[in-house]
Amino acid sequence: MGNFSEHKIDQDSMIEVSVCKNHEGQEYHSIDVGKLKRVSNEMFERNEDHYHSGKVFFGQCTQCGKGIKNRESSFQIICDYNCEILVKRSHYEIAKTSPGFMECFDLGPECAKRVKKACKEAGIDWKDYIYPYKKLT
Ligand SMILES: [Zn+2]
Repeated sequence: MGNFSEHKIDQDSMIEVSVCKNHEGQEYHSIDVGKLKRVSNEMFERNEDHYHSGKVFFGQCTQCGKGIKNRESSFQIICDYNCEILVKRSHYEIAKTSPGFMECFDLGPECAKRVKKACKEAGIDWKDYIYPYKKLT
């Protein structure tokens, strides 16, 4: 058993599915990706300044503030309470009547990579929570 510790996943960075309830008491799932953030407030502001600098972007990543250059490489997320809580896509209709529901936002390619990796480590299907824009019509 000794060597197993080398492969142990850091529990602090582990994401998990939370079960929440809407106004009617129906359950929906969400994940909190806040701890995956690698961007300081300063960096976020710099990214945001660049986003507003006049260049044309497809969208803006809610996690790091970076402008997203093309639709093909970015993802759509559904947020609840804050931009770090992602609602399970198939639970959209249920979550819509929750008090903190915030609708859809953009997730850039770099942050999406982190979310995918964390989901895999936690045994969560990332496709349940982030959706490629290229697949949306
Ligand atoms: Zn990002």
